[in-house]
Amino acid sequence: MAAVAGEASEGEAGLPPAVAAALTAEPPVGLIYDDRFLSHNSGLALIEDRDNYPFAEPIAHVSSPVLVGRAKQLMDLAGITVQMRRLPAYEAGDDELALYHTRDYIQRVGEIAKTGGDAGTGAPMGQGGDRVARLAAGAVIAAVDGVMSGEVRSAYALVRPPGHHALAGRGMGFCIFGNVAIAARHAQRAHGAAKILIVDWDVHHGNGTQDAFYADPTVLFISIHQEDLFPVGSGALDQVGEGSGEGLTVNIPLPGGTGNKGYLAVFERLVLPIARSFVPDLVIISAGQDASVLDPLARMALTTSAYRTMTAMLLSVAAETCGGRVVVAQEGGYAPAYAPYCSAAIAESLVEPHPAITPVPEPYGLRAESLPSSRTIGLDAERAIEAARSVHGRFWRL
Ligand SMILES: [Zn+2]
Repeated sequence: MAAVAGEASEGEAGLPPAVAAALTAEPPVGLIYDDRFLSHNSGLALIEDRDNYPFAEPIAHVSSPVLVGRAKQLMDLAGITVQMRRLPAYEAGDDELALYHTRDYIQRVGEIAKTGGDAGTGAPMGQGGDRVARLAAGAVIAAVDGVMSGEVRSAYALVRPPGHHALAGRGMGFCIFGNVAIAARHAQRAHGAAKILIVDWDVHHGNGTQDAFYADPTVLFISIHQEDLFPVGSGALDQVGEGSGEGLTVNIPLPGGTGNKGYLAVFERLVLPIARSFVPDLVIISAGQDASVLDPLARMALTTSAYRTMTAMLLSVAAETCGGRVVVAQEGGYAPAYAPYCSAAIAESLVEPHPAITPVPEPYGLRAESLPSSRTIGLDAERAIEAARSVHGRFWRL
């Protein structure tokens, strides 16, 4: 694919002028990615029915790191990464992990990694997998450091394994350590960020992140997810936080089939007004691209344009409230032919590329917008959005 329109000529440094201009924009957008993420070993198929089908050819686990590798490759080919500043990831230490996790669990992960195994319920890792998981947590911390110090204006931590299901004392749902929960606490302790907004648009509920801040008035957690998908019973509308954190957990469960128009309405009617009233010092996005129309683990219908729009909307809120400080942390996203395009579209929205640079393509072209849910809000989605407005309107002016 051509990264740059044909009429662009090369500048003095051998780069097309549009790219050269983007590279010198200060501060740049950060990218934290490490090839070592590709060594995260999630094993073979999620459902192994070997007894009934002993000869079926095994397939890769859906949470294979190959997908983030493909996203990075796509970002390279589209000329996005050259516009970003690479920041190094590092392995988070015990004290950093203990910002959320129990010391016992941290030690247990190290023991399990000696042979490989499950760090809890459905959180597979290979031999030495604790170091890759520490690297993922350290990458999101590095993104926070880059943004809070002003070295970069925003940053994308393209990590594996993901983190938003991990509990303080147990891995869960492909997640070993709670990367975003740890990074949010780090932003508060190391950089004095008083109030953090976490927007989790992964199609599953970010139960681990919710747990971490359920009674905490300094962190506003907003989760948009498919209702009662995973974990079952988690992320219901009436889970609004407790004690001094009441009202600061905002769950927005949506029916399967909700697409671009429904998500746009969720942002306009709920996410944006709530985020603006909260006035965060930092915005962290738990960016799972598994609400995409092709995802095998959910039944939503977002296309690449929705991911661009959601990113742009949160960048706009951050520009109004906290100098544009946004950290994007990769969570789920399991459609091999589609999720990497969604991730690349998010990165492209962050760098706000020069118009001369050809955007990352929508794999299905205009057909992607022919979905009914790209043109209108379904009645069941409308009902769910208004139900959420009614509940959260007790705490926010909506
Ligand atoms: Zn997910």
